[in-house]
Amino acid sequence: MSKIDEKLQPVLDEVLRRNAGEAEFHQAVKEVLESLGRVVAKHPDYADHALIERICEPERQIIFRVPWIDDDGQVQINRGFRVQFNSALGPYKGGIRFHPSVNLGIIKFLGFEQIFKNALTGMPIGGGKGGSDFNPRGRSDREIMRFCQAFMLELHRHLGEYTDVPAGDIGVGGREIGYMFGQYKRLTNRYEAGVLTGKGLAYGGSRARTEATGFGLVYFVQQMLATKGQSLDGKRVVVSGSGNVAIYAIDKVRQFGGTVVACSDSNGYIVDEEGIDLALLREIKEVRRARLSTYVELKGPGARYIEGGSIWDVPCQIALPCATQNELTGKDATTLIKNGVEVVGEGANMPSTPDAVDLFHGQGVMFAPGKAANAGGVATSALEMQQNASRDSWSFEQTEARLAQIMRGIHDDCAATADEYSAPGNYVLGANIAGFVRVAEAMSALGVV
Ligand code: GLU
Repeated sequence: MSKIDEKLQPVLDEVLRRNAGEAEFHQAVKEVLESLGRVVAKHPDYADHALIERICEPERQIIFRVPWIDDDGQVQINRGFRVQFNSALGPYKGGIRFHPSVNLGIIKFLGFEQIFKNALTGMPIGGGKGGSDFNPRGRSDREIMRFCQAFMLELHRHLGEYTDVPAGDIGVGGREIGYMFGQYKRLTNRYEAGVLTGKGLAYGGSRARTEATGFGLVYFVQQMLATKGQSLDGKRVVVSGSGNVAIYAIDKVRQFGGTVVACSDSNGYIVDEEGIDLALLREIKEVRRARLSTYVELKGPGARYIEGGSIWDVPCQIALPCATQNELTGKDATTLIKNGVEVVGEGANMPSTPDAVDLFHGQGVMFAPGKAANAGGVATSALEMQQNASRDSWSFEQTEARLAQIMRGIHDDCAATADEYSAPGNYVLGANIAGFVRVAEAMSALGVV
């Protein structure tokens, strides 16, 4: 039986029809529309002027060719995307992903999620996302630079600190943002610091931006646990992924007294019962840019590397999926529940499949959806924009304190909204409705545009 309100079913049908084959986008829209039935029942005016249909249709979608020359002198062609989804609350804001799996449907799902995530932060930022099917793996630093410059050669004309402000995502970190900012500056002859976020500290970046997504996730989980009178102290935690989000989630869990016993990359996962050695992990991922299997070689006995398989087979009380979309399936959820998982917090965007989320809700596992729990990254991007606009630079402590306060606000907002709509403890519903209402208020005020 469909969980969609009958008034919203035609909206979903139309999204499925006109965005054929975009499975991840369908999944993201369906989840939000499932939550909105209760809103339209209470506030029928939100469905006026095709507001919900408009929110499902990007304001602008840019697809472009990215030709570049590799180290062997061969011409390579990639495809670039920027989906400017919604600017009711502010300039389009959202990361850029470089990964061979990138296609329009993936960028649209990410852009759609970003609208509600950004709204939840309470900051004045709209939603967008971009990327390319470029695969950075195995590419030299010079090739990465040439690709970033070629990508920005087209993208720059669609950006601006008041128009669209990209940042990083999978495959795009400080190095890539630096190359893209350099190219933007050259092409426009403007030192427009607020046009990109996630910049290096040397040229207008914000302290705590690198750490923000992972730290924010753990602050959110801490707030959820606090509603039950619990804390992270002494908890056994599994974190999937080993990128930026995972690394700083591991760091913050440890600061709060928990132990992260496993993390992963796309080839396999490591288990270290003593707790993941963060300095070693950072050396492998951030300095050597090597595979995770190296961890066991360097750490020696005590740590295990499991090629393939599922990291969710490792028993834990808290599971933090921080790798990528749909990485945690119904089968994984069943295993986690059997092993006694208490909390699941999404650091990645949409890492749990819909059947996994249903299982967690059905079994009373506390579940934090990505668009609320991982919003600390983009919230700190908005703080970076603030610092750039005022030509200021804040201390780490001040920035992290703002991040913690924002995450507490998002948590309380989601929890209160879930209560208001008679679904206490359902953070999915709370996040979708609280984010939607903020965007809908602005869209109604701005008329049919
Ligand atoms: N890519 C991140 C996200 O999924 C950050 C976006 C940003 O900082 O603009 O939210």
